[in-house]
Amino acid sequence: MLSIQPIKAFSDNYIWLITTNEGSLVVDPGDASAVIEYVESKNIDIKGILITHHHFDHTGGIVDLKKKYELDVFGPFNEVDGIDHRVNGGDTVSAIGIDFQVIDVPGHTLDHIAFFSENKGDPVLFCGDTLFSGGCGRVFEGTFEQMFLSVKRLSELPSNTKMYCGHEYTISNLKFAKEVLPSDNFIDNAFKEVEKKINNGIPSLPTTLEYEKLINPFLKFNDDEVIASITNKFNVSNDPNEIFTAMRKWKDNF
Ligand SMILES: [Zn+2]
Repeated sequence: MLSIQPIKAFSDNYIWLITTNEGSLVVDPGDASAVIEYVESKNIDIKGILITHHHFDHTGGIVDLKKKYELDVFGPFNEVDGIDHRVNGGDTVSAIGIDFQVIDVPGHTLDHIAFFSENKGDPVLFCGDTLFSGGCGRVFEGTFEQMFLSVKRLSELPSNTKMYCGHEYTISNLKFAKEVLPSDNFIDNAFKEVEKKINNGIPSLPTTLEYEKLINPFLKFNDDEVIASITNKFNVSNDPNEIFTAMRKWKDNF
């Protein structure tokens, strides 16, 4: 049995705490103090860390956490200190009784990886800053095409996959989604629901891939209405990569 809790850090980061009867892992601990406070207050037996990419708000707590606890740290091939096991696409990470498949998802950064577990028919995905609820990450290091292929790769996972993303960006993402698809009532309702949750201090995550395919324009690169919206606004073809790229560049300036 696996349970997953968010530990909030900085203004909008989520450090995910994964727990089984064999112990706990944290994903992307940017802030050691937030993790230590949570773990100590609940007497949690923390065994390891999963890292999705090198950005400091996802890695800044590794060294201090390793000083306090005995941890196995799994992460990508990068310059970050404290990673014990460097992994990339196709590798399997086994910890606290769970097998995670590592998926390469370059674009936001070149080292970005995601961790996926089938979890006995209740699949879970830790996708860092690649895919968010209602949106996707900025392209900092890779090409737009790399980001497109990474998002597409994640979209092909089972539709009941629960997505645990690195940030609470859903409100601003859905504002943009409403701009792309102004007459989509489903997105409008999703926005109102999320607004309610956030106002009550409830995270909008996890979400599911199935739900994201309804509200996230970056997963709707084959959707006729998204294609019409983008090709009306920008001089691009209906090629999915061009649609995705034009939309991501639009969002950068939104
Ligand atoms: Zn990042």
